[in-house]
Amino acid sequence: MQAIDDLGRLGAWSRSTIQSKNMTSGARLRAATAVVSLGVLSLALASAAHAWDDVETPAAGSPESIGRYAAGCLVGAERLSADGVGYQAVNIARNRHYGHPALVDFIESLAQRAADANIGLLPVGDLSQPRGGPMIHAHASHQVGLDADVYFRLDLNRLPAESRDDLDLYSVVDGERLVVNERFGEQHVTMLRLAAADPRVERIFVNPAIKQALCERDWPDRTFLRTLRPWFGHDDHMHVRLKCPSDSADCIGQPAPAPGDGCGAEVAGWLDDGPIPQRPPGERRMPTLSPRCDAIR
Ligand SMILES: [Zn+2]
Repeated sequence: MQAIDDLGRLGAWSRSTIQSKNMTSGARLRAATAVVSLGVLSLALASAAHAWDDVETPAAGSPESIGRYAAGCLVGAERLSADGVGYQAVNIARNRHYGHPALVDFIESLAQRAADANIGLLPVGDLSQPRGGPMIHAHASHQVGLDADVYFRLDLNRLPAESRDDLDLYSVVDGERLVVNERFGEQHVTMLRLAAADPRVERIFVNPAIKQALCERDWPDRTFLRTLRPWFGHDDHMHVRLKCPSDSADCIGQPAPAPGDGCGAEVAGWLDDGPIPQRPPGERRMPTLSPRCDAIR
C-alpha cells in the first residue's frame, strides 16, 4: 500500500487511475507520471502564496522537521556541502540541498561507507528547500528535510560544481521489459544495501524492477529488503527517507512497512498485470500544511 506513502491522499487518486486493467504496464507508468506531475502542479498553485521556493535561507532555530513528508516544513536546516568524501552534490542550482542535520549526517556517513566499498562517487540530488515546504516541480514529498535522492550514476569523476546541473543521470531499468538493464551492477546493489540496512532509514523508494533484482538474490539476512519500497519512477535514483528525529515532536512519520521482505507477490503486483493491492481509502484532496509552517514561510 505504498501509494499513500509518498503522495498522501493524492496517492489514492493516482493509484486508482493507474490501475486500469485496460492499460499496459508501460501505459500505467506513463499515466502515473502524468498524474503525479498534475498533482504537483496543482499543489504548487494551491501554495503559490507561500513561495517556498523563493526563500533562499533556512529558518533560524533549533533543527526541527514539522509535519508530514508530503506536507510540512523545516526549521534550522543544514546545507549539504557540494563536495564531500564519497559524494558530489548534483543539480546544485535548484538550491535544494537543505535538510535536517540528521539527514546531512546520514548522507555523509553513507558516502563514507560507499567510499570504503569503492563503488564510485554518489551523486546526491534534491534534499529539501531551505525551509522545506512544497516544491514547484519534481516531488510531492521532500518537504521536511528528511528525504534525499541519490542517483545511480556512479561512474562520474568529481566535476566542477557549476557543471553538475544537466548531467545524464541515466536509468538502470529497462522500461519496456520492467527489469534492470545492463547498467545495473554490483555497485548499485552495495549502495542500496548500505542505505537500506541503516537503522535511521524509514523507507527507500526504488523502481519495482530494482526491488525485484535484489529480491532474486540469496542474502544471509534479508531484513534490509523490507526497507526498499517499490514506487513509480525511481529508475535513475533511490529516494531515501529518514525516520522522524527525536528533536522533532511535530514530525509525523508513517506506519512501518508490512512485515517481511516485500518480495514475492508484493513486488510482482507492480510488475505484472496480476493482483494489485487495494488502493488506500480516502477522498481526493491536496495535503494541508501544519499551521506552524505558516509562521516560517
Ligand atoms: Zn525523491
